[in-house]
Order: sequence, then C-alpha cells, then structure tokens
Amino acid sequence: MNNLQYTKYLFDNVKKISFADPGVIRDTYGRGENLTHKFLIKELKNFTKNIIIDFGGNFLATYEGKSKKKIVIGSHLDSQKHGGNFDGLAGVIMGIIVIKFFYEKKITPKNSIAVMGIRGEESCWFPYSYIGSKIALGQFDKKLLHSLKRSDTNKSLYYHIKKAGFNADKVSNNETNFDISNFKYFIEPHIEQGPVLEKKKIPLGIVTGIRGSFRYRDAFCKGDYLHSGATPFDYRKDSVVAVSMLVNEMNIYWKKQLKKNKDLVITFGQFFTDKKEHSFAKSSGLVNFCVDVRSSSNKILEIANKTLIKKIKLIEKKTNTKFYLGKQTNSQPALMDKKLIKIFQKYSKERSIKFEIMASGAGHDASVFANYGIPSIMLFIRNKNGSHNPKEYMSIKQFFEGYKVLCGAIENNYI
Ligand SMILES: [Zn+2]
Repeated sequence: MNNLQYTKYLFDNVKKISFADPGVIRDTYGRGENLTHKFLIKELKNFTKNIIIDFGGNFLATYEGKSKKKIVIGSHLDSQKHGGNFDGLAGVIMGIIVIKFFYEKKITPKNSIAVMGIRGEESCWFPYSYIGSKIALGQFDKKLLHSLKRSDTNKSLYYHIKKAGFNADKVSNNETNFDISNFKYFIEPHIEQGPVLEKKKIPLGIVTGIRGSFRYRDAFCKGDYLHSGATPFDYRKDSVVAVSMLVNEMNIYWKKQLKKNKDLVITFGQFFTDKKEHSFAKSSGLVNFCVDVRSSSNKILEIANKTLIKKIKLIEKKTNTKFYLGKQTNSQPALMDKKLIKIFQKYSKERSIKFEIMASGAGHDASVFANYGIPSIMLFIRNKNGSHNPKEYMSIKQFFEGYKVLCGAIENNYI
C-alpha cells in the first residue's frame, strides 16, 4: 500500500474497532483503547522490531537512526465518549507513516525516530488529564492510582491498569522502562480543535504554547428567594443578577486583556438555579456555576484570579449576595521549544507551505513532556467541525500537508 492508502487503512480500521454510534469510544484502559493499541502495535511490527510497552501500557516503537537520541512522535489513543476518530489518533498515525517512509526508502536517519501511543489523556474517563504521559515519564502521583475512579465503572485506576494487563505496582513506584534520557524531542501532531485553520484555509498550525488553566468547577452564589412582585430593587438578594454581573464584568475584562495582547480565555458555564425551590415568581436565592480561565502565562492567570475575586467582592456589596467559589483546580501552562518553532517555520517557508503561529487552547500530552524538560512542539492539522464530537473531520489531504512538513524536516536533517 502506498502512504495514502495505508493512512486511510489505519484510520478506517481504528474507527471500525472503536465504533460506537455516533462516533467512537476508546475508553481509557477499556476495550476501545486496548484494541486500538493492539492493532497499531501489530501494524508497527511491519517496520520495526524495537517496540516497548511500559508498565502503564503506553507503547514506544523505535526506528533506529545513527544516533540513539530519539525524535519521539506521539499522541493519545483514548477518545471522548462518542468522540471523533481523529483526536489523538492522527498524531500516532503520522508517526507511523514517518517510520514507514524511512523503512521503505531504507534511509538511516540522523536521529532515531520513535512513535509513542499514549494512554488516558482525556479527563472524561478518570477525572484527571495526561495519565499516560505522566506514567511514561515515571511521574504519576501514586495516591491517585487508588483515588481516581473511572466515571462509568466507579473502579480505581489501579484496578483498570491491572485489568488491562499492565503493572500498576511498578507505576506506583514511578518505574519506567522507556529510555527517557534519549528523548531528544517530543513532537505531537494533532488536529486543531478550534476553527482557526479551517476558517483561514491554512493547512498547518505551529504551536507556541499550551494554555494552562484555573477552574472553579463547583462555584455558587447565595442570595434570598423573595417575592418577585413585592420586593423592591434595594431589598433584593438576587443571585441570578449577581452571577450575571460577574459574567459580564469578566467578559469586559477579557476583551480589555486581548486588546493589550494578553493571551487569555474566560468561560462561564453550568449556570443554573435550584429547580426545587426556584420559580418564576421569586427572585433566585441560589445560582450554581463554573468558571474556566486559561492562558499560556502563569502571571496572567494569577492576575485574572485576583481580578475575579475583587469583582466578586464588589458585586456582593451591590447585590447583598455571597459567592462561594469552592475548590480551585489548575493545570500548568507549557511553552513549546523556541528552536523547534523556528525550524518548522523555516522549513514550511522554504517549501511554500502556509502556516499559522498559534497557542493551543486545549491541553495536550506535549505539555507534560515540555514541563519535564524535553524540548517539545505541537503541529496542528486543519480539521472541520471542531472536536470531541463525532463530526470532527480531518481530510487525508490535510493530514499529508502536516506530514510533508514533519517528515521533510526530519529527512532533510532540519532536526
Ligand atoms: Zn487530543
């Protein structure tokens, strides 16, 4: 099979294996993810015998170059529940096609090239992101092995790792059998999950950083349930008004930051009143909501958090309400490697391939490798209809635009 036919064959077969109308289900340490790993490992055996599976079930297939140092091309193979076929999978398949190219041309590259298939990136199965990449680097917090429960089975991560046939005890001891000291670069090709490349008709995104975040998942505002007709303005304690004011104020703040070229995204959601107590004839005494704030800079996140709290205090006074933000969760921003950004920019320019320099709004495994200290980069592939849904669509043509840059840069010793 030529590269195009083989790429289609890989995408189609994984889709078939993990099909769950509508879309696909590749559940972390479950049937869909296990079968996908098994199938791709079998395919990789056509091109290399050097395939290692780590204690948490990630695979690393290496095509040896002149140097032991590796360019690791990888992404995750789990999916959302009824997600799309391309999220994660596209990056692993691109790595396989790169290895196939070198194998068939009988070229020994300067650096070794490795493909990594990563477990458990999505946080919909266990309420935690990047499980597989943290395990691969021997960095998984062992307490979480027992405390994290899978959303559908309510069984622990420890249980599921064992059930899938891997060594949860070694994961618990932070052991890894990957030769991490030889990881020279980590490259994650991935579909773009927003609309930018598709809208601008640009085939390639070169990613500068992955946004980190802080979140209040269970915030609420308390006021008082008061008669809607009989309570004058000054006597109200309306939590709908209070939270709406906060949303509006933070939206204005966000726009101001964008004008100053600050990288920031603010989203409020799960905005609801208490169904049991609230009705149209009362002002609302309770609104539950969540807020998700993202940026590629820790400093900007810190200031945004302070601003949020300051605005809440003012609104509480104005509306006679009280906000409770609850537990904060966060993730660290990660910067992509400047040298790699320049290299891919240069190579794309020389080949007249259009690209967009952009930050990644979504979290990715590359952030774990970058924060570990391995120079990392993401290449975004143009994709239609967003992501995390069955309609996500990356054409094979767009896939090969990204492939041309990645494989070409390696073949021509740019990296
Ligand atoms: Zn993904």
